[in-house]
Amino acid sequence: MKLRFRLSRMMHPVALTVFPSFCRLCGRALGEPGEKVICGCCLERVEVHRGPVCPVCGRFYQQAAAAGHSCGQCLEQSPPFSWHRSLGPYAGRLKEIILLFKYKDCEILSRPLASIAYRHFAAQGLFDGLDLIVPVPLHRKREKQRGFNQAELLGRALSDLSGVPMLAGVLIKARNTPAQVSLEAAERERNLRGAFEVRKPGKVAGRITLLVDDVFTTGSTLRECAGELLRAGAREVRALTMARAV
Ligand SMILES: [Zn+2]
Ligand SMILES: [Zn+2]
Repeated sequence: MKLRFRLSRMMHPVALTVFPSFCRLCGRALGEPGEKVICGCCLERVEVHRGPVCPVCGRFYQQAAAAGHSCGQCLEQSPPFSWHRSLGPYAGRLKEIILLFKYKDCEILSRPLASIAYRHFAAQGLFDGLDLIVPVPLHRKREKQRGFNQAELLGRALSDLSGVPMLAGVLIKARNTPAQVSLEAAERERNLRGAFEVRKPGKVAGRITLLVDDVFTTGSTLRECAGELLRAGAREVRALTMARAV
């Protein structure tokens, strides 16, 4: 499958209409209108969590009896965001799509990901009364290396779907921090402290803001960003990520 894909990328556009490209997950030929990188079947089968969650941080619960109750962590210390939701666990097809989207030149996947998230969470009221969408920023060096900020692409797609304006550049990552992946939860908090800054507080003051990122791991990035937005005067900060790793 990999060889076929490489061949299709090298081909002239005219040849591509004769020799279609293939779904990067299941290998099926892409032919339906709007299909890019991944086929419609694989997208439909993305594992969305439909069970109960912590009403604040969105932690996935396995038991129906837990529905409506805040989780232990939120009871101990409520996060600065009012509520956060993730589409599903960072596993299976959802994880594969996010990895493709971030690392393999498949930025266009921000569109179907955002579309699934918008359909699911607009119905729950996450976009009600919203004034602004703010992507979790990357440090400018990191963004240059990657060529794009994945959270900003998701934010832009969500903005197009919802009609809520996105403001990139209002929240910035002023300090480049070591990759979070290698750190324990407590170290993550320390690593990020003071790393984010609001450059134009007037743009967020009094506004209901939705922070957008690709993956929720320990939540330390969202907590830090939401805290900064509140200090800058935001009325409320909500948060949305595509997948949750815990
Ligand atoms: Zn497929
Ligand atoms: Zn919680």
